Amino acid sequence: MGVSGFIRGFNFLHRTKPRISVYPSGYIQRRAFSDSKLLDSNDSVLPVLIVGAGPVGLVLSVLLSKFDFEKVVSPISVAHFSQYKLTRLLVKLLENLGFCICTSEGPESLDHEPLKGREILMGHECVSIDITDQCVTATVSFSKEGESMTRKIQSKILVAADGAGSTVRKLVGIDLKGENDLQKLVSVHFLSNDLGRYLLNERPGMLFFIFNAEAIGVLVAHDLKQGEFVLQIPFYPPQQSLEDFSPEICKKLIFKLVGRELSDVNVIDIKPWVMHAEVAERFVCGNNQIILCGDAAHRFPPAGGFGMNTGIQDAHNLAWKIASVLKGVASSSILATYETERKPIAIFNTALSIQNFRAAMAVPATLGLDPTIANSVHQVINKGVGSILPSSMQKALLDGIFSIGRSQLSEFILNENNPLGSSRLAKLRHIFEEGKSLQLQFPAEDLGFRYLEGALVPDSKDVVPAPQLPTGRRRDYVPCADPGSRLPHMNVRVLSKFQSEETISTLDLVSGDKVEFLLIIAPVEKSYNLAQAAFKVAKEYKVSIKVCVLWPAGIVTRFQPESKVTVAPWKNFINVIEVKRSADSLSWWKTCQMTELGAILVRPDEHIAWRSKPSVIGDPYSKMKMVFSTILGIESINIRNNVLNI
Ligand SMILES: Cc1cc2nc3c(=O)[nH]c(=O)nc-3n(C[C@H](O)[C@H](O)[C@H](O)COP(=O)(O)OP(=O)(O)OC[C@H]3O[C@@H](n4cnc5c(N)ncnc54)[C@H](O)[C@@H]3O)c2cc1C
Repeated sequence: MGVSGFIRGFNFLHRTKPRISVYPSGYIQRRAFSDSKLLDSNDSVLPVLIVGAGPVGLVLSVLLSKFDFEKVVSPISVAHFSQYKLTRLLVKLLENLGFCICTSEGPESLDHEPLKGREILMGHECVSIDITDQCVTATVSFSKEGESMTRKIQSKILVAADGAGSTVRKLVGIDLKGENDLQKLVSVHFLSNDLGRYLLNERPGMLFFIFNAEAIGVLVAHDLKQGEFVLQIPFYPPQQSLEDFSPEICKKLIFKLVGRELSDVNVIDIKPWVMHAEVAERFVCGNNQIILCGDAAHRFPPAGGFGMNTGIQDAHNLAWKIASVLKGVASSSILATYETERKPIAIFNTALSIQNFRAAMAVPATLGLDPTIANSVHQVINKGVGSILPSSMQKALLDGIFSIGRSQLSEFILNENNPLGSSRLAKLRHIFEEGKSLQLQFPAEDLGFRYLEGALVPDSKDVVPAPQLPTGRRRDYVPCADPGSRLPHMNVRVLSKFQSEETISTLDLVSGDKVEFLLIIAPVEKSYNLAQAAFKVAKEYKVSIKVCVLWPAGIVTRFQPESKVTVAPWKNFINVIEVKRSADSLSWWKTCQMTELGAILVRPDEHIAWRSKPSVIGDPYSKMKMVFSTILGIESINIRNNVLNI
């Protein structure tokens, strides 16, 4: 089926508190908008509605659009890159993919137009949801010429990518589990070329934890050359309020942290935020029609940079599954595997982020500034004896206690001649030498995360390995081809371009533009038979598959291999030869911890759906049928009937 125009992203520029109520039956309605106009909507039912145009919602839009047979999008390399810049780039990318960025005001307003799809509705807020067996109806509010308006949008699937405070999650009544309100902070986004130059010359770096007797804060250098920074400051409401962080006060705080006045501080934005470590109890509900992803599904401390990255992995996991359901090649039950696969990763990354956050806090704790003590003191002022004091006295008390705390950092105490200072400094050195503070590199977790159950065929049905726990130590990524793992990377050369020096990654063999499986085999007879069977089954199941014949380094020279004959009449195959980094580096199959008699089936999201370590025993056609029906969540008998009926 065609899947043209199925994305909606909402964003709102002027957010109002959603006025909603949840009915006990789980059927959700909005309270009457007595003061708002309801626009008639001529829209038909859209395939997918994404609520939330943050990085996760936008990436899901890009991925789904690519599965809509649009042009290829280049891969993005790893970088330290501000999230707001990434969001802008993603919006630009979606514009290039034919999306229209619409506001409720002005010529792009679509208030009276039926939605065709491929619109990002800025300034629109999802305020209620009705779920029926046929579709999900979202009520969206926006303001136009000072008036509050609403419209209804129907879709088969609604994806909630509406962030940590997710309205949709609350509307469908999904609870979060974990630790909430770990710390409140104020985030100050500012520019200063003066500071940028100073740090470039004196202390180039990305992250600065600053503790001195005057002030405490964490400075993130987004771009030293451009002088762009974000400062995180602990925030203790209600004794402190946002007025205590006016641009002028923030400037003074920055000077105290840096230790001198800067000539050109320009404060752009000041926002409070709360740190939680929580995962939604369910990611999918309403008969697989409502799906949570990104911060809507999990929110954790930003220690280690897992938040958005985990959300983008969610989008990657989800996009091919949604596209497969909409194309009618997979059962809607495949959407439930999104939760089976992604929830354990979210739980793991939450635990890892808490561990990393606590490791980072070991530094101030060693200096006599234990944040848990500060939080306990704050609790006593809020709820204990301090709460009976007038608010001005509470504030003065808090300021006084923090000032005493910061005095621990004075040169008088923190020096080698002072026994207390010297012992603290020694402990600090130990923390850094042992690498026990904040860690920023997580190769094993970034690349080695693995789905144990879901839209995949495990090696053995009986043994599902126990989920791992974070160790708190840096672990290297060890490539492997266990089902559920990410396809290992190796450089290969396409044999039809053998004269060229150009190499690609095995990851590039997975199509980024359509829902296509990839079967990697060695050039051996039994594997060619398996490839034939895979093509046949894929055709019956109406899924696309490409076969990659991976030749060992050194075997093929100028001669074109015989795959063409052995794979005929099927045409969607590619011959590649491995390009080893050095003569003694591991071959492809050894890297995958397999033999060349094996085969690897890769999903459209680059995770391994199935592999056979030795060659397939028995009938390859039956084997491939079992494999595809398991992955797609369909009974082979039904598919066979459908195919015969057509
Ligand atoms: C200080 C800090 C540092 C961080 N550093 C990192 C890092 O280094 N690496 C990393 O990976 N992550 C980091 N994170 C986490 C990262 O910012 C989040 O995980 C990420 O923003 C989540 O993206 P999202 O799209 O799920 O949600 P959001 O970015 O919150 O986007 C949600 C979108 O939905 C919209 N929305 C909300 N409600 C509605 C509604 N009812 N209707 C319509 N639209 C709605 C919002 O306006 C917003 O546009 C950090 C977070 C913080 C606070």
